[in-house]
Amino acid sequence: MGPRISDRVGAIQESATLAITQKAKALKAAGEPVIGFGAGEPDFPTPQHIVDAAIAACSDPANHKYTPASGLPDLREAVAVKTMRDSGFECEAANVIITNGGKHAVANAFAVLCDPGDEVLVPTPYWTTYPEAIALTGASHVPVFASVESGWKVTVDQLDAAHTDKTKALLFVSPSNPTGAMYTRDEIEAIGRWAVEKDLWVITDEIYEHLVYGDNEHHSIAVVVPELADKTLILNGVAKTYAMTGWRVGWMIGPTDTIKAASNLQSHVTSNVNNVAQRAALAAVAGPLDAVVEMREAFDRRRKNMFAMLSAVPGVQVLETAGAFYSYPSFEALLGQNIKGYQIDTTLDLAAALLEDAKVAIVPGEAFGAGGAARLSFALGDDDLGEGVQRIVDFLA
Ligand code: PMP
Repeated sequence: MGPRISDRVGAIQESATLAITQKAKALKAAGEPVIGFGAGEPDFPTPQHIVDAAIAACSDPANHKYTPASGLPDLREAVAVKTMRDSGFECEAANVIITNGGKHAVANAFAVLCDPGDEVLVPTPYWTTYPEAIALTGASHVPVFASVESGWKVTVDQLDAAHTDKTKALLFVSPSNPTGAMYTRDEIEAIGRWAVEKDLWVITDEIYEHLVYGDNEHHSIAVVVPELADKTLILNGVAKTYAMTGWRVGWMIGPTDTIKAASNLQSHVTSNVNNVAQRAALAAVAGPLDAVVEMREAFDRRRKNMFAMLSAVPGVQVLETAGAFYSYPSFEALLGQNIKGYQIDTTLDLAAALLEDAKVAIVPGEAFGAGGAARLSFALGDDDLGEGVQRIVDFLA
């Protein structure tokens, strides 16, 4: 008799980011004054006009029935229009599949492209879901390590060194979760040209496209290097831009054969995404970007405060966040020390000590494929942010 749980699913790790957030929430519920920097979601409500569209959708009997597995035709069309508007990538409704969140688009992308034995190059630190979604297909992820010194970005030389005859695809994420790094247009072009030369697929996760700060600009790799278009899957969703994490609507854009394949898959796994949520997403993508402008201002302010406070701590090396809502300080220089009675050899140790002693939750880099640094989300109120970072500063003092 084999194992009760299949090898593939048995090998999946619990999402470390969700685990930390849950632990911090549980401690808070038990009365502990915990401040959580784990959140991967905007701390704003969904804009009212989007909520209103959902309320109206509930009363429309058309939304009470099955709809096409690949998404409401109006929404697929609106996503194509929005993509042209926001990143200049030209596509049609037939190039779009609506998914249950960006996360489901990630799962679909790897399921559609990868076979057992294939390799996917994954710049590391990475968002925890990618390697699991890759492993579920029987393929494997090949980490390509970025460092604080390299601005948390990988180079063409590094990618080239990691490339083998099994490499099927490159994952590209800018702005990055967890590091907040963004590639410049030139860097994107160099990486895109290299991918064309190697005849690789590129999976580009653009979910943070609108959360960019200062002089940073988001560029879609498929626009910068148009020759890539026939082998690029663009992943995106409403979660971050419109503060809609709980609604679960995302999408994948790709050549029609990939969309058809994903649609066949989805027709057996989930069928259509909840119609009410799709109607809300339609109001979001077809509507204004005012809400994200407001959120961006708040995030920008918090980003600067967090950077100023962390960069003043001796031994902490931190870069100014370019995009998304994460700061990713390196604590490398502090490891191997005893701090306030805690032996801190890894960032896992540091995160555990901070939660116990300072009542602050951060996500250690180990969750993202490389220890030594940690992720702090700045999607929390200004006062909590200031107080929480001060506690970290005091702990390390
Ligand atoms: N991509 C990245 C880089 C993310 O950080 C997230 C959310 N943490 C997602 C995709 C998925 O978002 P959702 O499933 O909520 O749409």
